[in-house]
Amino acid sequence: MNAQNAIREASATEEPGEDFRPDVGEPPYTVAVDAGHGGDDPGATGLIVEKDMTAATAEALMAWLQADSNYIPVTTRDSYDVTATPMERAERSNRQHPDLLLSIHGNSAATEASGFECYPITPGRTWHRESVYFARQLAAGMENAGSSLRGQRGIRYIYYENGVKVLAEANDLRVREEETFTLLEESNCPAVLAEQCFITSAEDVDLFGDEDGCQRTARVYYEAICAYFGTQPLTSLGE
Ligand SMILES: [Zn+2]
Repeated sequence: MNAQNAIREASATEEPGEDFRPDVGEPPYTVAVDAGHGGDDPGATGLIVEKDMTAATAEALMAWLQADSNYIPVTTRDSYDVTATPMERAERSNRQHPDLLLSIHGNSAATEASGFECYPITPGRTWHRESVYFARQLAAGMENAGSSLRGQRGIRYIYYENGVKVLAEANDLRVREEETFTLLEESNCPAVLAEQCFITSAEDVDLFGDEDGCQRTARVYYEAICAYFGTQPLTSLGE
């Protein structure tokens, strides 16, 4: 596999400093919104089904972006409830030449767990620093909205080692051959996969997973996108 992000850049092995800003150019910005599950792939099941939450959140986020003339929102599926593999969604996203990609997921656990975490493109890959910058906007927004942040400030890396998911914390900047999520590995733009909340936690679902929760989180994601590109968020959909 010749992943988009396999190109190594020395500058991408560092954690972006506080003064780092992505070079975003002029609006409008194309933003790919990926509902992480759909169709025959429901994702995890807890108090709610993951694909229902990812569809509702993606739809609400799309509404904000569609109302804002700074953005051209695009999706990675024909409709929310159709089956599409991560590779198919990556290819569909790449064909639309987005400036940023957000993949929306829900977390689950057999034991008690709650909070937000998100996964940027990994160290050493082309869009690592921009992805971390976006991840910081997302995590800060979720914390402001009342979520607890997991790991180091809500940002972690995932690697697949012989098919097994391995977690690394945000300060682990070793460049590894192991690949992260296919959607991120194949993305031709900065990308973050967000685990919005635990669909197995009543408190999390109440705040970030039920109907109101999906609306609330979509607003957080929208504001994080505006912070990434440096645009002023709309205050209401009717503007
Ligand atoms: Zn998922």
